[in-house]
Amino acid sequence: MTQLVQPLADAYGRVATDLRVSLTDKCNLRCTYCMPAEGLDWMATEQQLTDDEVVRLVQIAVERLGVQEVRFTGGEPLVRRGVVDIVARTHDLGVETSLTTNGLGLARTADAFAAAGLDRVNVSLDTVRAETFHTLTRRDRLHDVVAGLAAAAAAGLGPVKVNAVLMRGTNDDQAAELLTWCLERGYELRFIEQMPLDAQHGWSRDDMVTADEILASLEAAFDLTPAEEPRGSAPAELFTVDGGPGTVGVIASVTRPFCGDCDRVRLTADGQVRTCLFAREESDLRGALRAGASDADLAERWLVAMRGKAAGHGIDDPSFLQPTRPMSAIGG
Ligand code: SAM
Ligand code: SF4
Repeated sequence: MTQLVQPLADAYGRVATDLRVSLTDKCNLRCTYCMPAEGLDWMATEQQLTDDEVVRLVQIAVERLGVQEVRFTGGEPLVRRGVVDIVARTHDLGVETSLTTNGLGLARTADAFAAAGLDRVNVSLDTVRAETFHTLTRRDRLHDVVAGLAAAAAAGLGPVKVNAVLMRGTNDDQAAELLTWCLERGYELRFIEQMPLDAQHGWSRDDMVTADEILASLEAAFDLTPAEEPRGSAPAELFTVDGGPGTVGVIASVTRPFCGDCDRVRLTADGQVRTCLFAREESDLRGALRAGASDADLAERWLVAMRGKAAGHGIDDPSFLQPTRPMSAIGG
């Protein structure tokens, strides 16, 4: 019997079709804009959805709620043992699958992901200098990320995208260098403005590197032309570099918010639906699921949660409060 699809519509006419699933809050790096050097109090195993629970909720999202793309993230999704199997089972549902990873361990697993049906990866890399990498991530693992990127491209998990965050005084002078490196290898680089989502609440509006600054520093080295294709719900503003075919993107979540076109919804590793990265409320699906709720009931709870999605993140509003959950526990 074909399932009746009820789209995940909110009160402002937006429909979520892109699901971000966090598989763990744990990570093997300690990026300064994300978490403190000592790490965090990680989620207890019993709080975390099991592989079967993740797949069940993803299946409900796809079959009953019209989700068309599922991106796995974290924390670091590759530290979760069952990740390849979860990807394979999601791929079998007939949706696009992708992964956002810091790249550690990807050299070893890229072929298995490709065989599981993964469509694409985004790898986070903020610098190609080993010393700066250590300053930013507090680990000496640049070579692993570089190897992971190469393996992903070789396994056909492309176009391989690279996500970069610029931090003032650390790597904000390296935007052009990173772009050159990515263009030479055919990776699509996207700069993300630093957002107030770090566990240690160290973000400041005055200190963050803005999209205008990023573009100015790139334009000193390259000729950038706004890309012609319509942006739709994609968060990145795209530019063609030196006449193409290479491109670069800027995701200006803070200074040029794109909330009006948002098509995302998030599921945390402990089974909470979040309608926005910056939401201060979440809706518990895990409790209902473990109490024996039916698929129809879980879908209804998800629909209700969606109706409460705020119009925008309100970072510039004087009353803005950073969410209690840090980025690593939400799923970026
Ligand atoms: N560990 C994986 C990784 O780093 O790609 C996946 C999770 S991470 C939270 C997802 C993305 O969020 C990464 O590209 C990371 O650079 C970005 N990110 C983390 N904290 C951020 C912040 N405060 N502002 C902007 N982007 C951030
Ligand atoms: Fe880990 Fe990703 Fe956070 Fe860096 S940004 S500490 S890699 S979760």
